[in-house]
This record gives sequence, C-alpha cells and structure tokens, in this order.
Amino acid sequence: MQNRSESAEFQLKDEAYEVSLRPKGLKDFVGHESIKKRLNVLIQASKERNDPLGHILFNGPPGLGKTTLANIIGNEMGANVIVTSGPAIDKAGDLAGILTNLDEGDILFIDEIHRLNRTIEEYLYPAIENFTLDLMLDSGPSARSVQVGLNPFTLIGATTKNGSLSAPLRSRFHSTFRLNYYSIEALKLIVERSSQLLGIEMTDEASLEVAKRARGTPRIANNLLRWVRDFAQINQCKVVDQAITVESLEMLEIDDIGLDEMDKRILSIIIDHHNGGPVGLNTIAAAMGEDATTIAEVYEPYLIMQGFIKRGPRGREVTQIAVDHVKNSD
Ligand code: ADP
Repeated sequence: MQNRSESAEFQLKDEAYEVSLRPKGLKDFVGHESIKKRLNVLIQASKERNDPLGHILFNGPPGLGKTTLANIIGNEMGANVIVTSGPAIDKAGDLAGILTNLDEGDILFIDEIHRLNRTIEEYLYPAIENFTLDLMLDSGPSARSVQVGLNPFTLIGATTKNGSLSAPLRSRFHSTFRLNYYSIEALKLIVERSSQLLGIEMTDEASLEVAKRARGTPRIANNLLRWVRDFAQINQCKVVDQAITVESLEMLEIDDIGLDEMDKRILSIIIDHHNGGPVGLNTIAAAMGEDATTIAEVYEPYLIMQGFIKRGPRGREVTQIAVDHVKNSD
C-alpha cells in the first residue's frame, strides 16, 4: 500500500518546477474564461485611470492557479509583486516592514491569508482602506500611536478556506474570484502546454490520460507529467504514448478518475466501517492517522465535487456513485 507521503506527493508544490511552467500573461492562462474577462476589464480600467487596481481575493482549493493569477496581474500591470503568506507574518512589525517598503502601484500577494492572526489583520485594515498605518510607539504610560502614510498599493489575497476568512477582512476586497476545478479538456491543454515547454514529445491520447487523472487540478497535472516523463525516460521511450502513460500512472495507484490510495481509504472507512455514514471528520481522520485539515482541504473537496461524498450536519456520507465506483475498482 502507498504511504501517506507518496500519495500526497502529487499535491505538493515544487517552486522551481512550477515557476518554469507558470503562464506569464492572461492569454496563456488556460480555462476560467469569465475570470480572465473580468480581470482584463479591471486591469485595463485601472491602467487607463493610472490608479492602482482594487484589492482582489482569490479563493479555491490548492493548485488551481491563485498564485499564478497574482503574478499574471503583476505582469499585465507592469507592477512588482511582493509575495508573502499569512503564517509568515507573525508580528505586527513584520507587516509594518512590508507595507512601508511598498512602492506606488506594487502588488502585495498574501497567500493563505485566512491564517493571518486577528491582531495583524486589524493593522491591515487602515492600510488597505486608506493607505495608512497606525504604529504604536513605546509601551506602558508613554505608549502613543502615530499614523504613517503608505504608497497606494494593491493587496491580492489567496485562500483555500474562504469560510475561515473574517467577515471584516473579506468585505475589504473590491473583487472576489472563486477558482473551481478544471475540466478534463482544460487540463489536457495545460498538459500539452507544459509538455511543449519541457520539450516532451507526447501523443494526444497520452495528454488526455494525464488530464483525466489530475483531479481537476493544474498543479497535479504538471506533477503527474513530470512523473510520466521520468518513467518514459528510464524506459527509453522517446515519444510518450498512451500505453507508457497508463503504465506509469498505474504504478502510482492512481485510478482512471484520479483517485489515489488516500481517497479510496476515506471512502472505504465511511462505507465499510460506518455503514456509508454519516460520520464525523475527526473520526475519519483518526482512522486514517491523518490530520483532519488535510482531509478537509486537500482530499474531500474533490470527492465532494465528484459527487462521492455529501457533507451534512451530522458528518460525511457517501453516495451511491461512490459505492459503485469502489465496487467496480475492486
Ligand atoms: P495555487 O496558488 O492556487 O495553489 P498555483 O498558481 O501555484 O496554484 O498553480 C500551480 C501550478 O499549476 C503552477 O505551475 C501553474 O503554472 C499551473 N497552473 C495553474 N493554473 C493554470 C492555468 N489556468 N493554466 C496553466 N497552468 C496553470
């Protein structure tokens, strides 16, 4: 059986590899047509007015292109993108340092913005509302607050957990975009684009096989492609065809709709041990020896999207589609 790290491997970020495949402009960004159109309007309008873009929030599961879009916006606006993340800012002073260093028109990208602590969040409010920062000087009786002006900038936030974002923070974004899982057709285009960039010769059927197993997620598609390339290379296969692709992906125990060992264990715990559910997330997590947040944020959204699991007030329940899929793949 696969262990935890192997099955999660294809969800993982590899910065250097990802940067090499990251689309640079809106026209290279595959799919999500309506988001691209709306962004294009915002970008053009703000360029014409010579104003910074309004603050933007992207939400959606990992690997769907939130960081990529933030960088694309930076390129299209001709602006610097300063990248940080919620957990990386753990003192108000860190945030003040970042904000006071921003030049006019810069983009501040905060990944996992739902993980900013609440005190720091409150420092952010005046900064994004009217580009000022209230700094506390000294402590005790001589403590006083001074207000410093900031250069107008654009905040782009990304979150995998929109529900965990505080309402006051959420309401301060001018536009919010929800990224959903990609269609197989869009993923196939992404695989084709990436294979060209990496110089991999690949047949149409092979790209489709990778796309079908990518769980609607470009990051997984690119990571599977890398695995297929390595597998083809050690098998002296110059052109990656369907047969070698299927063989390599079977070795990872990823089935033809992208479910891996972890997904199958989640389904089998609910079906075999809890009679199909409902069963609480923490019970599933304990039975798997996995962290509940990883199950809820990484595995479950795709199972829900496929119509395999329903989330109700009393816990998770499987659907007939899931029972049939598990039975057929046994
Ligand atoms: P997120 O920030 O949502 O976790 P990223 O923006 O880091 O996801 O995207 C992960 C990888 O997938 C990157 O290598 C990126 O190039 C690729 N990618 C994401 N969306 C697209 C897209 N629409 N078209 C092409 N490649 C994409």
